[in-house]
Amino acid sequence: MSDKEQMAILRLREASEMSLSQYKKPLLITSSGGKDSSVCVELARRAGIPFEVLHNHTTADAPETVYFVRREFARLDAMGVPCKVEYPRYKGERTSMWALIPQKLMPPTRVVRYCCSVLKERGGQGRFLATGVRWSESIRRRDSRGIFEKSATDPAKRIILSSDKDDKRRLFEHCTAQATRVCNPIIDWVDSDVWDFLLSEKIPVNPLYAEGFSRVGCVGCPMAGKRRYRDFARWPAYEKLYIRAFDKMLEIRRQRGKLGGSWRSDTTGEDVFHWWMEDGVLPGQLSFDEYRAPIQTEKEDEWEETTA
Ligand code: SF4
Repeated sequence: MSDKEQMAILRLREASEMSLSQYKKPLLITSSGGKDSSVCVELARRAGIPFEVLHNHTTADAPETVYFVRREFARLDAMGVPCKVEYPRYKGERTSMWALIPQKLMPPTRVVRYCCSVLKERGGQGRFLATGVRWSESIRRRDSRGIFEKSATDPAKRIILSSDKDDKRRLFEHCTAQATRVCNPIIDWVDSDVWDFLLSEKIPVNPLYAEGFSRVGCVGCPMAGKRRYRDFARWPAYEKLYIRAFDKMLEIRRQRGKLGGSWRSDTTGEDVFHWWMEDGVLPGQLSFDEYRAPIQTEKEDEWEETTA
């Protein structure tokens, strides 16, 4: 067993102890269906701790991810691990990405990511969570995430431990506030650590990685930049769903007299889609095969927070 595996297992055992003593509930591992979640679940199993697994069904995940999570949950269930799929709700009703867009009157964007809080970051409030967040995924994660974290509405009261010997550790362990706490056991793992572990231990992973996807998450996620071109080439039905949702959004804006700026009375859902994709296709223009050539840039590696 590598040093990093041992350290991750140690962190999970500590988190489990705190979860059982302070929350009276087992550690809850959040799983996105991505590779980092698969590592966390397997490490928790090897740590010999009691744990549960939670997956948020975003409604915009690729079908392969949905089926993979289903298979994994059946496998874990057979081992006695409680697993739960959380379905999104908004204003008391079941919702989806496609219902949310007309309700919010705008597409989700990099700056206004309303969909994450409704579709992806649900469940687990007031619990001790474990996630597959890693520093190497982005500069922002490097700067803002820790091995252990305690949330608080007041940023000054948040506790982030960025080393296993952090001075704030006692404060974190003894703080009795019933805030959500998080352990990120593989935060210091790089991609090669993740893949070495998954491949050498023959752990099942989302089949999309075998197709060349380096990340899995919502199809068309605005944080994915130009990777979205490849998403829509691979799952064209999702493009249609977004266009239909944008059409409904425009209709509601029309009814409420909220058209303006570049959205006029003749703007279509397809026009909004091109604006959203930043593909340079202007309203009324036709385009051919625009989603066939994924271009990767440095900046796209900033895609974060949402996928694993
Ligand atoms: S992962 Fe992206 S598309 Fe999915 S809920 Fe979060 S921001 Fe929205």
